[in-house]
Amino acid sequence: DAKAQGRNTWHWFEGTTTVVHNEYVTLRRELMEAIEQEQFVLYYQPIVAADSGIVRGMEALVRWQHPERGFVSPGDFIPLAEQTGQIVAIGQWVLHRACSDLADWNARMDRRMPVSVNISPLQFRRYGFLDEVRRVLDITGLEPELLELEVTENVLMSGAGQAIETLREIRKLGVKVSIDDFGTGYSSLRYLRQLPINKVKLDRSFIMDITENSDNAAIVQGVITMAHHLGLIVVGEGVETAEQAADLRHRECDLLQGFLFSRPVPFDQLDLSGSINR
Ligand code: C2E
Ligand code: MG
Ligand code: MG
Ligand code: MG
Repeated sequence: DAKAQGRNTWHWFEGTTTVVHNEYVTLRRELMEAIEQEQFVLYYQPIVAADSGIVRGMEALVRWQHPERGFVSPGDFIPLAEQTGQIVAIGQWVLHRACSDLADWNARMDRRMPVSVNISPLQFRRYGFLDEVRRVLDITGLEPELLELEVTENVLMSGAGQAIETLREIRKLGVKVSIDDFGTGYSSLRYLRQLPINKVKLDRSFIMDITENSDNAAIVQGVITMAHHLGLIVVGEGVETAEQAADLRHRECDLLQGFLFSRPVPFDQLDLSGSINR
């Protein structure tokens, strides 16, 4: 039957590559079940201060705990969920869970730890998104200043006028915004100037070979200098080696995130007490 066939062809579906029809149908149905049965879990990855290693925040990253396939990473279902529109329901769940996890923790620990949540283009552009953010903050009690939404630059480029208006409204709530995977899209540094954002997250592809590739190193330095000039905070993503961390520190990158410090882990496995020095 279609389900069995879907299972056999599962490995064909990788990221944004074409999905064979059977598999598309199967996955869509399974995603529907996953939404109904809340088969998703959130992992969190710490974001640390480049100078001290003190944990300054964390990013929520969704995983699908599939009853038969086991753990499915977001790269294998987010693109499809974006196509089918199911990302809206998944995104709502993620936003709610992340805010409630952090609100609980902050109340218990008497601290102010922020959380970053990835927002997909469809979710961001949807009418009613702002109300959803307001409602989640209201229900969970998380301070708006402790929520940060991560959007990619292309989200802001296409439909620019409306997107900037949405950004302004988000900022009015006190919620922060960062540009994810910066450098991989088509926006220019100059464009950043017009955006009411707080942070730029330098894409992992620039960090990966920063110590060997002088072109990438120059881009990274340019982004950091320019972002600081505009009053923005810069995060280096995907830091895996001590050399990369040292290089980014030397270039005055503000925050670092990557396997060197911690992989994404379930909330109860996070150690947020001290600093992670690497
Ligand atoms: P992203 O937002 O850029 O998240 C960073 C990704 O890089 C995560 O992959 C993280 O586990 C991985 N990463 C972090 N440090 C390192 C490192 O040092 N080395 C390497 N090789 N990788 C590192 P993950 O969790 O598989 O997520 C992939 C993408 O899926 C995310 O990229 C984001 O675009 C999307 N995503 C994840 N969760 C959500 C979500 O809740 N909603 C939406 N709309 N998208 C999500
Ligand atoms: Mg992100
Ligand atoms: Mg990122
Ligand atoms: Mg990335």
